[in-house]
Amino acid sequence: MTSKRFTLSWVVAAVAALLLTACNPIPAVPPVTAGVSAPGSACAVLKEVAQDALAGTPPSPARARFDAADRKAFAVSAFGYLCELSEEVGPRESATQEEMKAAAFLMDRFTEFGYSPEKQSFRWLIKEMEFAGTSRNIILELSGRGEGVVILGAHYDTTPDSVGANDNASGVGVLLALAERLARPPWSDQAGSVFPFTLRFIAFGSEETGLHGSWHYVDQLTDAELADIWVMINLDSVGSGTTLLAVGNPWLTRHVSEAAEREGVLLTTSRRGTSVGFSDGFYFGDAWVPTISFAGNDISRINSPVDTIEFINPVLLGDTAVLVLDLLASLEGLQCGCR
Ligand SMILES: [Zn+2]
Repeated sequence: MTSKRFTLSWVVAAVAALLLTACNPIPAVPPVTAGVSAPGSACAVLKEVAQDALAGTPPSPARARFDAADRKAFAVSAFGYLCELSEEVGPRESATQEEMKAAAFLMDRFTEFGYSPEKQSFRWLIKEMEFAGTSRNIILELSGRGEGVVILGAHYDTTPDSVGANDNASGVGVLLALAERLARPPWSDQAGSVFPFTLRFIAFGSEETGLHGSWHYVDQLTDAELADIWVMINLDSVGSGTTLLAVGNPWLTRHVSEAAEREGVLLTTSRRGTSVGFSDGFYFGDAWVPTISFAGNDISRINSPVDTIEFINPVLLGDTAVLVLDLLASLEGLQCGCR
């Protein structure tokens, strides 16, 4: 049981930590709240705190497709889902009951948004370690007005003993916020979305054991299905730091640089590799699918017990959502020609 006094002091500390996070997203030492479990209503409280922390979001440039209110709304929504996944679902180690609980959480959320998500189960094996497990990818689609598929992916599992606020409740939080928004007008109506392609959302399981979910997904595609995929966008650890990084295909990095300039978002790009570190974009890139991955510029706490919500900068979540959406809008009518 948590005393009222304790709860209040936790909230005050959390407010201070989040305000700190917004102004100076990398505190020098972990705040005293690190590792404290959130009480039931903590996510609602913290969501309001994040909203306050985002009050100072500067206006977007005149040429931007999305204004500051859009960015803020995405940030708050993604932060709320991040909180639910990291604080309420908690650690979700690959191929465990906890990962299954996280999968159920995601199935519920996507269904609430109006999608028909499917679980794709798979079994993986690491022979050298005699280590095996069963996991699942969660897959759902928003049909568009033309041929082709764009994949937006993020893994939802964690390493043991980590709530994975940044790695990767942040990516899943943005994925959920985008899925929720894009299912509604003006982005979608009964006929589907405004995009000239099908947007396929995938929450990958068992990334932390060696990209098993994304490997399985790419491996089971037919050549024709693989050829239909225009682009893969991967979100992994987008919540900590001061700026975003985007790594991947030159054609995509150019478009995302233009999007960042248009939206007034600070972004560093690299054309070397398919992701920051090793992540789910890898096997898509390996199969010649144009791939780009987003991450925040501070991944120092990932895969550890201190990867907690105190170190999340909600501004980056809103920036990621807006960049992805601007990139999706930029793909309209463009021919890649980059395979
Ligand atoms: Zn990750």
